[in-house]
Amino acid sequence: MSDASYDTIVIGSGPGGLSTATLLQKRGLNCLLIEKNNILGGKMISIEKDGYAYDLFPHGQVPMRGSAFEPIFAELGVADEFQPALEPDDPRDIITLLYRRADRTEYRRVTQGQAMADPEPFFKLWDLADDEKEAAINVMTEMATITDEQLDKLDGISMHEWLAERDVPSAVYNYLGFHANASLAEPLDLVAASEQILIMRQMMTGGGGGQYKGGFGGLTKVMAREFEKNGGTLITNSKVDKINIVDGTVTGIATPKGTFTAPVVVSSAGIQPTILKLCDEEHFDRAYLNYIKGLVPGWAFTSIRYFLKEPVMDTAMYVMYADTSWLNTTRFAQMKNGEVPEEVILFMVNHNFYDENAAPPGKQVLVSGTVCSSNPEAKEIEALWQRMDAQMQTHFPEIWEACERREYNGPKEISDLTRDSVIEGQGGECVGLAQIVGQCGSMKPDSNAPINGLYIAGSDAGARGMGTHQSALSGTGVARMVQQYLRGRSKMR
Ligand SMILES: Cc1cc2nc3c(=O)[nH]c(=O)nc-3n(C[C@H](O)[C@H](O)[C@H](O)COP(=O)(O)OP(=O)(O)OC[C@H]3O[C@@H](n4cnc5c(N)ncnc54)[C@H](O)[C@@H]3O)c2cc1C
Repeated sequence: MSDASYDTIVIGSGPGGLSTATLLQKRGLNCLLIEKNNILGGKMISIEKDGYAYDLFPHGQVPMRGSAFEPIFAELGVADEFQPALEPDDPRDIITLLYRRADRTEYRRVTQGQAMADPEPFFKLWDLADDEKEAAINVMTEMATITDEQLDKLDGISMHEWLAERDVPSAVYNYLGFHANASLAEPLDLVAASEQILIMRQMMTGGGGGQYKGGFGGLTKVMAREFEKNGGTLITNSKVDKINIVDGTVTGIATPKGTFTAPVVVSSAGIQPTILKLCDEEHFDRAYLNYIKGLVPGWAFTSIRYFLKEPVMDTAMYVMYADTSWLNTTRFAQMKNGEVPEEVILFMVNHNFYDENAAPPGKQVLVSGTVCSSNPEAKEIEALWQRMDAQMQTHFPEIWEACERREYNGPKEISDLTRDSVIEGQGGECVGLAQIVGQCGSMKPDSNAPINGLYIAGSDAGARGMGTHQSALSGTGVARMVQQYLRGRSKMR
C-alpha cells in the first residue's frame, strides 16, 4: 500500500460508490476504494465463466438516453466507451409481451419495439375498446409530459392513489401493477407515484430496457480502470469492519488489512448496514437510530438462468403477467403466509441479444426473474422457483427443451454478494430502500449523515429513479458534497 492516509475512502464498488470514487479521483483527490468481493461492481457485475459473459443482476437501463453514467464517462474523457447496446429508436422487435386478463384462460401475445414507444401493440394485448384506448392514451400522455415540479408534489401519494383519481382502464391499472413489481420491485399500493411516473416518463421519452456492449459490468470495468489510471488505490477482497469516528467526526476505517485514515468516508454498503453495523450506535442520537431502523427495505428479485444448447429466444425480453399474478401488498402478505400464487410474473432477458459474446458460439443464455421478499431467509423462494420453471415448461417449451443447465439465485445470494442483513427481513433488496411513500424525493434519506465527513452513496440516499441510474446519480451528488466539505474544512484551519 503506497499510503495509508487518503482524502476520501469509499466503501463498496457498486454504481454508487464507484461513481463517487472515480469522479473524486479524476478531480484530483487521493482516494481509496475498498470492496469486500474480489470482483468489482456490487450488483452491477458481469460474470465471465466457461465461455459465457453476462450481467448477473441489472438487465435494463432506464433511461437509455440520458442515463447518469453518460456525464460520468464524459468527465472521465471516455465518452466513446459509453456504448448502449440498444438505441431508443432501434427498429427491431425488442419485447415479447404475454398478458392474461382475469376473465380469460389464455395468454395473449404480442411483440413490439422499444418499451412504450408505440401504444398499438399494447392496445392489442389488452384488447381495449375505443373509449378505453382514449382513456389509456390520456393517462399515458399525462405521465409522459408531467413536469419535475408536478412530480415533486407526488412524493406523498402512492401510485394506486394517483390512478384511483383517474379514469383508467383496468388493463392499464394491471400493467402498472406489473410495472411497479418489475421496474421498482415494489407494490403499486405503496410505491411513490413520483418514482413510478418518473420512470414511466423516462421510458417513454428516453427509451428503456437496454443494456451496454460488454454489459452493465462493462461500465464498472471502465470506471474502475479510470479510477486506477488517475492514481486511485483499489483494495478488493477486504470487508470493512468499522468506520472510525472520534468526537462526531470520521477518522477512517478498520479492515482485516489494516486501518486507513481519511477525513471523509463514503459508504455504499447500504444506509442500514452502514449506520447500524459499520458505525458504533453511540455516535448517533436515538431519534436518528430509530429513523434508520424504521426505514423499509425494498423487495427482491429471484431469478433462474437458463443455459441453452442453441439460440431459441428471439427478442431481447419476454414479459409475462396476468391480472392475478402481479403482487400488491395483500398478495405479497398471502405469499409470505405460504399461499404462493398459482402463476407469477416473469421478466426474461436474452443476454445474447445485447452482446453476441454473452455465450459461446451456437449457444444462448437467458435469465428469468420474479419478485419476492428481500429476506435472505425467505421461505417462499423454492416454491417460486418451481412456479417459474413450470411456467417456462408450459409457455416456452422450446426454451425448456433446449436447456442444458439452470442456475438459481435469490435474496440470500444477493445479500451475500452485496449488503449485510442487519434488521429482520432485510439484506437481499433488489434496488435498496423501498421506493415507497415516505422514503422518496423530499423524504428520501439524506446522503449527508449526521457525522462530520460521513456520506451515504448509492440507491439508499440522495437520488431517485431506477436502480443503477439512481445509484450513479447519488454517487455523482455525493462527489460534489465531499468536495464542498473538504474545501470548507481546509478554510476552517
Ligand atoms: C436481481 C436484480 C435485478 C436488477 N435489475 C436492475 C435493472 O434491470 N436495472 C437497474 O437499473 N437496476 C437493477 N437492479 C438494481 C441495481 O443493481 C442496484 O440498484 C444498484 O446496483 C445499487 O447500487 P449501489 O451502489 O447502491 O449498491 P450495490 O450495487 O449493492 O454495491 C454495494 C457494494 O458495497 C460492497 N460492500 C458492502 N458492504 C461492504 C463492506 N463492509 N466492506 C466493503 N465493501 C462492502 C458490496 O460488496 C457491493 O460491491 C437490479 C438488482 C437486482 C439484485
